Amino acid sequence: MTCTLLGFVQLLAFATGRFERWPLWWGLSNLLIGIGTIGIALRGSIPDLISIPLANLVSWSGYLLTLYSVRTFAGRPARLPIYVAAVAIAGILLLLWNDPEGFASRVILMSVLAACCDAAVVREGLNLMRRERLVSGSILIGLFAPTALLFAANAYLAVSGQLGPDLFAPSEPQPWLAVTGTAFLLLRGCALLLLATERHRNALVSLANQDALTGALNRNGLEGSIALLAAEATRRPHSLALLLIDIDHFKQLNDTHGHAAGDQILLLFADAARSELRASDVLARQGGDEFVVILPHLTAAEAMGVANRIRAAFGRVLADWGGLTVKPTLSIGIAEGDAAEAPLATLLQQADEALYRSKRLGRNRAELHPAAAAG
Ligand code: GH3
Ligand code: MG
Repeated sequence: MTCTLLGFVQLLAFATGRFERWPLWWGLSNLLIGIGTIGIALRGSIPDLISIPLANLVSWSGYLLTLYSVRTFAGRPARLPIYVAAVAIAGILLLLWNDPEGFASRVILMSVLAACCDAAVVREGLNLMRRERLVSGSILIGLFAPTALLFAANAYLAVSGQLGPDLFAPSEPQPWLAVTGTAFLLLRGCALLLLATERHRNALVSLANQDALTGALNRNGLEGSIALLAAEATRRPHSLALLLIDIDHFKQLNDTHGHAAGDQILLLFADAARSELRASDVLARQGGDEFVVILPHLTAAEAMGVANRIRAAFGRVLADWGGLTVKPTLSIGIAEGDAAEAPLATLLQQADEALYRSKRLGRNRAELHPAAAAG
């Protein structure tokens, strides 16, 4: 009954239209597991054909839908034929074992299938943690790994002949398994909601900190990164270098090839820059055709090497792109400072002065700010 009600609530949540598609499958799965279990519990009061093969099959379909909804949530392929085959095979076996002697075989079948399903959900939880870095994946794992073991234990009890003929007998271990299973079902209902909340929060954070076109950080994200680096540098002092990069003749490129081509060049630049940066480096779009790169632990002289590599990488991707009559290049200004103390505004100001010199000296080059050159 609990499971059925939970299914209804989840379907109501889906009906609000504020969620994606997975609560539909999740709600249906709880509904089917609940209805199937009620059918099994009514054995003796309703025809055996309904309480045994049909009710077990409905429960099993519910289990498969749980896995299906988790895979939908994770954006993984549906594999519908496998699900249909799993239901068909279970249906045939349940019909074959549709008599009192078949009780243990049915319990073994259903427990093994449910254990496999739960183990597959644990695998999806691990995938979500690895691919999307969703920490709540651990909650999914924590709630599905024990039920996988619980069902395995149930199968073991059936195999070793320790199960009585009645699933809900008060003196047997099964009622404990059933009650524990219900508690887990309820808690599991929350696991995907937590995962969804974490995913949405991550999406909001990146929307607030990222430039939509290039995927580089925006000014907000840049300030956040600088603050993190400064906090880290108070524990382990280090310097950092800042590159201010401006695309040359970008206005002319827009005018000649159109705004869409200009957008494409901004994307190409961001990709080329990323290809030359370490994971700990920061790429941010300052606005228009101006970008900032933060290189922690690097001196200005080392940053000059990185700047020239970015210029070369940009030149290469443009050569591959072809068809441009206006060939944009990069002018770069470099500043250096103490990561814990140098304010972002000062570093930007110094890099801007160096960038201005690059432009004046003919563009397509990198220049150091005198303070960085002296350092
Ligand atoms: P310079 O060599 O001195 O840097 O000259 P420039 O032509 O690159 O001129 P400037 O950097 O001052 O101009 C930047 C241009 O970038 C102006 C604006 O139309 C264009 N721009 C700004 N944001 C976008 C954008 O998101 N997409 C596109 N396609 N163009 C943009
Ligand atoms: Mg420019």
